[in-house]
Amino acid sequence: MTTVVAETATRGLVEIHNVHKSYGGVEVLSGIDLTVRPGEVIALLGPSGSGKSTLLRTINHLESVDRGSVTVDGELIGYELRGEKLHELHEREILRRRTQVGIVFQNFNLFPHLTALENVTEAPIALKRLTKDDARELALGLLDRVGLADKADAYPRQLSGGQQQRVAIARALALKPKVLLFDEPTSALDPELVGEVLDVIRDLAQLGTTLIIVTHEIGFAREVADRVVFLDGGVIVEQGPPAEVLTAPQHPRTQEFLAKVL
Ligand code: ADP
Ligand code: MG
Repeated sequence: MTTVVAETATRGLVEIHNVHKSYGGVEVLSGIDLTVRPGEVIALLGPSGSGKSTLLRTINHLESVDRGSVTVDGELIGYELRGEKLHELHEREILRRRTQVGIVFQNFNLFPHLTALENVTEAPIALKRLTKDDARELALGLLDRVGLADKADAYPRQLSGGQQQRVAIARALALKPKVLLFDEPTSALDPELVGEVLDVIRDLAQLGTTLIIVTHEIGFAREVADRVVFLDGGVIVEQGPPAEVLTAPQHPRTQEFLAKVL
């Protein structure tokens, strides 16, 4: 009994064990182990091509893994969903597991023909079978939370990049994910629009949302992250509290990267 309690207490919300992933014979993830605790904020740093996006995509089921496993809240995704095992799971169950993980991309990826409100209500109606009215109420609340209550009826082309990205965050939150992934959420923005998006992410962090953020905003990572994880060549070369990793990096690769971006 005691063991079970102890295990539950220490179980990660996201558990990545020995994940390997290759594209066309080239390995881009080479044995990733990472456990993310509930409420933890991880800043995932590393040079271009180090595998950051691929790693996020395995957590969100956008990519299968070749070896190893990924679980979110104890439910297997990734390797176990490949091949024959995949057919044993109903499509609906796969969708349900996918909705546990939200993802926000660099380029917002909003539906251009839908308003801000419709972008947020689309998935809850389609995947969670919410009524139009319930989805609308949910979406208005979320748009308000990201400071866009007055933009509900605007189309993406009528919004700034920062506003579009905030709609994308509201859309991701609409499925009530257990963990939210950000892949360079401010990299496509004009500098003056970066702050409004970081403010929203900071609020989420302070509310205890579990976040994994790929970013080159080192100051922001230092401020909001509980842990910085540094990826290079498909392996985690260094990790720890921001004050340690960002101030006194131990690994030459981390030192080299930080010297370039700071
Ligand atoms: P990062 O996000 O750190 O810049 P990525 O995860 O996007 O790195 O990419 C890691 C490596 O995998 C790169 O060499 C990239 O070219 C390669 N890669 C990523 N996605 C694919 C894909 N769908 N097909 C082939 N190669 C890919
Ligand atoms: Mg990337």
